Amino acid sequence: MSNSHVKTDTKHYRGRFAPSPTGPLHFGSLVSALASYLDAKKQQGSWIIRIEDVDGTRCKPSFSEQIIDTLTSYQLHSDEPVRTQSQHSETYEEYLSELKRQKLVFPCNCTRQSLTQFNGNHPSECSSTVEASHSWRLKASPNIYQCRDKIQGLLTFTDDLKNNCPVLKRKDGYFSYQLAVVVDDHLQNISHLVRGADLIETTAQQLHLYDVLGWTPPDICHIPLIINPSGDKISKQNHAKAIENAHLPTLLRALHYLQINADNASSIIEALTQAINMWNPNKLKDIKYLPIESQDRHLI
Ligand SMILES: [Zn+2]
Repeated sequence: MSNSHVKTDTKHYRGRFAPSPTGPLHFGSLVSALASYLDAKKQQGSWIIRIEDVDGTRCKPSFSEQIIDTLTSYQLHSDEPVRTQSQHSETYEEYLSELKRQKLVFPCNCTRQSLTQFNGNHPSECSSTVEASHSWRLKASPNIYQCRDKIQGLLTFTDDLKNNCPVLKRKDGYFSYQLAVVVDDHLQNISHLVRGADLIETTAQQLHLYDVLGWTPPDICHIPLIINPSGDKISKQNHAKAIENAHLPTLLRALHYLQINADNASSIIEALTQAINMWNPNKLKDIKYLPIESQDRHLI
């Protein structure tokens, strides 16, 4: 492997916030960014921003710039240069080749529809009659994976992987989120993941990948997800609004959902300093969803 694959060698806490630039930063993503930042800073760790733009059909560079501007306006600065996934396709290709060499992946022509028809099983002809454009999938795992989540408790993934062969490279040539996120967290030596509870469902596949690649996964925890009055995640699909830059009241409301009251702070810096001292993930214990409060509906 070339030098670009040498892991960053540090032993201290390294956290990250990894938005996908499919739209501007919204209130839900500000809450996630803050949680990962506060957890890192409370433990005198580094906090790194990574742009997860492997899906070239949905991501736009202009949104990356906008997201970083907004984070900067809230004094959330990456301690290292921002890593942009779309610039590292060769790295993902090398790890995919390694998995091909070990026969841990298979080429697949199945569509979501054809998989439903076969109860999620891949018929034998799926790999034998491979067309020029096909996806690469990770072979199913017989293992049961567990994750000791300091907020959500012990997560055990039993049935998730038996019939589930995650796509690592798509038919259209783009690498999947799952492969890119695991490779990057490993190469950037990320020690702790603090992310939204909507990503719990991706954890089993990521633990599976860590397992086959022979790597130790980071410590993973999932903060409650802010949901809109219909019970849905705040997202671009649900027309989430862009948050206003450098707006102290918005920051204070985001901290409120992390059970932090910094309402007497007179500046963003002061609110963040107080929030680092007050951050306590135990206050979020076992909470998966937090409905947006009526006074905050204008923010989403
Ligand atoms: Zn298949």
